[in-house]
Amino acid sequence: MSVVKDVPKQLLINGQWVDAKSGKTFEVPNPATGEAVAAVADGGAEDARSAIRSAHEAFKSWSRTSPIERSRYLEKAFKLMSDRRDELGQLITFENGKPVEEAKKEVAFAVGYFDWFAGEARRIYGELIPSNVATRRLWMIRQPVGVVAAITPWNFPATMITRKIAPALAAGCTVVLKPAEQTPLTALAIAKILQDVGLPPGVLNVVTNLYPEEIGQEFLVNPLVRKVAFTGSTEVGKLLMRGAADQLKRVSLELGGNAPFIVFEDADFDAAVEGAVGIKYLRVAGQSCICANRIYVHESIADRFTQAFVEKVKAIKVGSGFEPDVIVGPLINKDTLDKVSGLVQAAVKQGAKVATGGGPLKEGAFAKGYFYAPTVLLNVTDDMGVSREEIFGPVAPILTFQTEQEVVERANKTNYGLASYLFTKDLGRVFRIAEALEYGLVGVNDAAGYTHETPFGGFKESGLGREGGKEGIDEYTEVKSIVVNLPK
Ligand code: NAP
Repeated sequence: MSVVKDVPKQLLINGQWVDAKSGKTFEVPNPATGEAVAAVADGGAEDARSAIRSAHEAFKSWSRTSPIERSRYLEKAFKLMSDRRDELGQLITFENGKPVEEAKKEVAFAVGYFDWFAGEARRIYGELIPSNVATRRLWMIRQPVGVVAAITPWNFPATMITRKIAPALAAGCTVVLKPAEQTPLTALAIAKILQDVGLPPGVLNVVTNLYPEEIGQEFLVNPLVRKVAFTGSTEVGKLLMRGAADQLKRVSLELGGNAPFIVFEDADFDAAVEGAVGIKYLRVAGQSCICANRIYVHESIADRFTQAFVEKVKAIKVGSGFEPDVIVGPLINKDTLDKVSGLVQAAVKQGAKVATGGGPLKEGAFAKGYFYAPTVLLNVTDDMGVSREEIFGPVAPILTFQTEQEVVERANKTNYGLASYLFTKDLGRVFRIAEALEYGLVGVNDAAGYTHETPFGGFKESGLGREGGKEGIDEYTEVKSIVVNLPK
């Protein structure tokens, strides 16, 4: 547990590690055992206010640094966080539960945002606009929006943070970060890395807490906060957007998903099976916003696909993330376990058939954690909760379809629009369907998801704005037009 011991447990405000004003702390449980890993400061509105003030003060100088200077800090953060990859990976497993090899891969991916935005910092271009008058000049510049309040979830405790703070810092913004209550340690460890590379005080502040409403409210009412960057549930995203409306704060929202995974009869069969297993079970036990939620298989290959898929799922090892060869760790908490169990039970009542799994694991080593057996459901219909809702667990509903038009309509029939996948070798179909799917991400013969270079975000109720890509930095800038009449 020395990786846990080395992490600061206090709030980071104006470059200082400080206790919460209330003196309160809260315990961070290990979801594999239910035991407390550490206690960290439980910040409140007053702490959030101090952090916002310090970010506001720091903005005055940080926003005036040159892009290359900001870029250099991010490069150093990339280097140091890469060096600490193994420790951070273990830390993630302690508080989030995902298998440690998967956690290390997350860190390797998360750190890539420092690398990407270190480059993008130097490419925040303006424009010289052709003028309508001979003696007038027009140009456009991009400037940092100001203090950013970032709120992040627990499922990718490192990536969700770097994907926000890297573009914010690159653009010249300062940040107050509120990480998820389940995974504050990873956030504090990343903040320590930025402190260790010499980031000036106040540029990044972290306020950990157990009850998010108080701090969330301060972010919304405090006029010094100019932007709220949020990743989490659609429900909380809407609440923040409503609250941000009073001061017309900028918002970017990365919210829930309900990804269709479509397998056509001409697909590379093995790649499709492999891809479906990977994007369903190999990312935080199915607790990812881009996980396959509904697997649509063409009826002509459905039996063969199901057999191969179920065989692979049966071979998945479940257990504590520190055990060798474990693929599926625990779910994050009891609420998530209960929600997944409820969705499966309701589907079975409505006629779904369990091909494997089907319930929580409670015996022996599983007794104290929140483990759910990797599950495959057959005879699933579109109206079942398991098809309509974001499952957020290791449960794969398999549905069948007959025609291209039918499956696209069914795939789009949801309020979500984050990620989607299709497997086919027909090039015409690739374009037809990729263009018809109402999703921010379409994986064609690919289930690995997005990368740093691509903009990521949702259609419909899956969000607003984009993270990553060259678009990711635009979210942290304001556009200013400058009109100059030349002196006679
Ligand atoms: P959540 O309940 O919305 O929590 C996310 C964050 O919001 C946490 O830091 C949470 O704090 C905070 N929060 C909750 N209520 C708040 C309030 N009233 N005011 C201010 N902050 C508040 O979501 P979750 O269940 O932890 O995360 C899973 C969700 O995130 C899923 O729907 C998933 O699809 C989505 N997600 C989306 C993406 C994407 O890129 N689109 C990526 C990952 C996850 P506490 O932890 O203290 O409650």
